[in-house]
Amino acid sequence: MRPLISVDAAAAAIQATTVAAATEQVALHDAVGRVLAQPVLAEGPQPPFDRVMMDGVAMQWQPVMPALLRVAGMQMAGMQGGALTDPDTCIEIATGAVLPDGCDCILPIEQLRRTPDGYALKETATPAPGQFIHRRGSDCAAGSPVLAPGVRIGAPQMALLAANGVAHVTVARRPAVAVVATGDELVDVGATLPPGRIRRSNDLALMAALQTAGLGQASLHHLADEPTVLAAALAALLASHDTLVLSGGVSMGQRDYLPDALQALGVRCQFHGIAQRPGKPMWFGVGPAGQRVFALPGNPVSSLVCLVRYVRPALLAGMGLAPEPPEQLPLASALPAFPLAQFIPVRLGRDAQGNAVAEPVGSRNSGDFTALAGTAGVVELAAGAGADAGQRLPLHRW
Ligand code: AMP
Ligand code: MG
Repeated sequence: MRPLISVDAAAAAIQATTVAAATEQVALHDAVGRVLAQPVLAEGPQPPFDRVMMDGVAMQWQPVMPALLRVAGMQMAGMQGGALTDPDTCIEIATGAVLPDGCDCILPIEQLRRTPDGYALKETATPAPGQFIHRRGSDCAAGSPVLAPGVRIGAPQMALLAANGVAHVTVARRPAVAVVATGDELVDVGATLPPGRIRRSNDLALMAALQTAGLGQASLHHLADEPTVLAAALAALLASHDTLVLSGGVSMGQRDYLPDALQALGVRCQFHGIAQRPGKPMWFGVGPAGQRVFALPGNPVSSLVCLVRYVRPALLAGMGLAPEPPEQLPLASALPAFPLAQFIPVRLGRDAQGNAVAEPVGSRNSGDFTALAGTAGVVELAAGAGADAGQRLPLHRW
């Protein structure tokens, strides 16, 4: 029996091989989900002018307000140059307008009564100097930092990039990943299914888990359990990708040729076997050009667990994504201890107080991926440790 390494040691061994991704410039419209690789500074003061925050009128505040404000002009959003000279008058304005010169108070339309000669304040009006004016530069000054490298570009980041004139943004390149299914028993999704065979599903699942994490489109391949086929195909894939995610062929079976085939191509094994269930047979190595090769066991649950626990975080770290604290959820029911670390599929539920809880789903074995429907991911339980109901465990989402 080869010695098994711990979950943490496996993650650390992978992390030690991280190489920072190169960067590229993409049009802002294509940057959703990408990892920012440049700082973003405020293009100008934000807001760029004294911004009106209400629809209504702009006027000059006075301790005793005039009974009637005659209308001296109008300044809607996008217009400028308006100025108030007579304190008994007002300028009609809209939200987003530049505050007209000479004004220091906005009266919202709800607090005004329109008369034939202008606007009268309702009794409920509470005018105050400076009200409803979003002052120039009050959010941030020109040149101040707005975004730092390492954030994923989601909705707020998109707004900030657009608001600061970043039409082309520098992001981390995504790794070139090949997802490779191995196994003579595997049949394509669209083909007829002969007896004794099964459909390829792992590679599609692995690809989905990578793509939903913003890692882009992996190329998909299927190789037979045949040493010469494996040698030629893996050599070609190593030449064209920086990351190989293999499924199947790394256990102790007679046709589990992958470890030898990879070593023969100069891929140095960093570990083979992790003290965990499922996913124990995982193999990891580094190719002659620094390619990272993750050879995952073929059982569907095992391969997906290894992908979300090891492969995906490693690839995201390579893109410079700032690590986030792991999500932790309380268990809905107790889990028994086992000598190896355990990854247990969970559904998300609510306790009596309405708090989110992780409900363990009994998957009968690591080939039982039917049980994964409706699950959010797996919780991680340390080797030799059980967990009580209510105990918080890290959740690795699919
Ligand atoms: P292996 O790790 O190659 O011994 O495979 C373990 C189990 O997973 C076997 O029952 C395989 O048929 C199954 N398996 C391997 N690869 C895939 C795949 N791509 N899709 C679905 N099942 C697979
Ligand atoms: Mg196999």
